[in-house]
Amino acid sequence: MADKIHDLFVIGGGINGCGIARDAVGRGYSVALAEMNDFASGTSSGATKLIHGGLRYLEHYEFRLVRESLMEREVLWAMAPHIIWPMRFVLPYQKGGIRPAWLIRLGLFLYDHLGGRKLLPPTAVLDMRRDEAAKPLKALFSKAFEYSDGWVDDARLVVLNARDASDKGALIMPRTKVVSARRENGLWTIETVDTVSGIAAVHRARMLVNAAGPWVDHVIRGAFGKNEARNVRLVQGSHIVVKKKFEGPRAYFFQNPDNRIIFAIPYEDEFTLIGTTDRDFSGDPKDVRISQEETEYLCKAASEYFKEPVRQDDIVWTYAGIRPLFDDGATKAQEATRDYVLKLDGFVGSEVNRAPLLNVFGGKLTTYRRLAEHALEKIGEAIGTKGAPWTAKSHLPGGDFPVQGYEAEVTKLHKAYPFLAASHARRLVRRYGTRASVLLGTAGKIEDLGRLFGSDLYEAEVLYLMAHEWARTTNDILWRRSKKGLHLSHSEVALLDQFISEIIQRQVAAQ
Ligand SMILES: Cc1cc2nc3c(=O)[nH]c(=O)nc-3n(C[C@H](O)[C@H](O)[C@H](O)COP(=O)(O)OP(=O)(O)OC[C@H]3O[C@@H](n4cnc5c(N)ncnc54)[C@H](O)[C@@H]3O)c2cc1C
Repeated sequence: MADKIHDLFVIGGGINGCGIARDAVGRGYSVALAEMNDFASGTSSGATKLIHGGLRYLEHYEFRLVRESLMEREVLWAMAPHIIWPMRFVLPYQKGGIRPAWLIRLGLFLYDHLGGRKLLPPTAVLDMRRDEAAKPLKALFSKAFEYSDGWVDDARLVVLNARDASDKGALIMPRTKVVSARRENGLWTIETVDTVSGIAAVHRARMLVNAAGPWVDHVIRGAFGKNEARNVRLVQGSHIVVKKKFEGPRAYFFQNPDNRIIFAIPYEDEFTLIGTTDRDFSGDPKDVRISQEETEYLCKAASEYFKEPVRQDDIVWTYAGIRPLFDDGATKAQEATRDYVLKLDGFVGSEVNRAPLLNVFGGKLTTYRRLAEHALEKIGEAIGTKGAPWTAKSHLPGGDFPVQGYEAEVTKLHKAYPFLAASHARRLVRRYGTRASVLLGTAGKIEDLGRLFGSDLYEAEVLYLMAHEWARTTNDILWRRSKKGLHLSHSEVALLDQFISEIIQRQVAAQ
């Protein structure tokens, strides 16, 4: 039996679990978090990756959610200007299209004025007979609206929250599955299994937070034995990545005749990201994959707008994720609420220490910080308040530079490490911000970064990710800590795989 009693034990290392753990430990709670796979291996790496108000949610009158999300755009940008940045979206307007111009104008007016916009430029109207944005498109549009939202590296957002929580004293356990949790003498007894070694462990905590995303009901059913739990509606969304279809930093927002929308977004310099879909999902969330029907839908929908059609042969990568939406009884998947719901269980009136449980349903990347603040209010009610909200003015690891200071940061890094290619320096600042210098250390020439695996991925970066960000497999490195999977060949991946295995063998032998 574990001696230490944590204030909080969090199940789930997606954005919500890591966000809650970070906020809680920063307020002085003692916190443990278990993630059964890698951080962000669930929904939190399967998103469209927008830090956005959610223009479309206005149609469903989700004003609370849209306002909170709009306000968060600049808060999050300032917290992590390396992995979050503003993006302009071009919304072409077609006469006789699915939404009238006045409705779009009204939506964008609300979008500009509902709250929080200080640095992001406002909506503009584009003349599509002249604007560059019209170049890659068919001649269908004479006008377009251009508005602001943000972009985020979703998987890095998660791991940086975990990193910061750990730096502040939380016990962070990736590859650790919670297999049971029971109330005993006013405390939680939680059994976990290390999914690599198979070693079991027992933890105790005053309060449990179930932030298992699409598995939230699985955890309620499996770990707590409540077979009837049906709180979330699982809605799959998939994306395709193709060789780039257009130049420039702006993204497109297309309205399809079926009332759905798709985005086409510049991605990783050489690619275009196209998504997403909405379809109900049943089964184990770990098995989610894009279907042939979704692939065809996305290619066909994008080809309606781009001069050069999007063919299945153009696809270089696909990914799919599952939205764990609170089940509000909506009939269509795309109409289910995108807002989050927090439910406290086992806590009666003002009695404390009754081993409360907080279940987290829904939530977006954009609202994770506010969701955590709301969760902390509930945690305070349940086990007593500690500290005060602090994350709005904080920086995530590596994000401690001015909000519009990315270019200056690149110049600084390049001055300190002049041997880096310009694109390499830019990428390192985008990934690691001010911590790029920790990764590069005392290197004075490119050879000091060790073996080159391919593209500009050197041994030093791999070792940094293993030592500081819990990376353990090639997939962790190529698809979540970075997107180098898009750039490395099969043989390069095999080399990396071999290198990682050797490091792990050495670590195991040294234990
Ligand atoms: C297609 C799509 C597009 C989206 N686009 C956007 C967007 O553009 N902008 C935006 O703001 N939001 C977007 N979202 C929403 C956002 O991605 C999700 O709401 C968010 O990532 C959910 O995070 P989470 O932490 O709740 O779940 P997850 O990220 O799934 O995390 C839950 C974690 O719990 C772990 N777990 C489960 N059971 C156990 C157990 N027994 N023991 C230990 N660990 C366990 C899982 O392994 C998983 O990693 C999108 C979602 C989808 C699917």
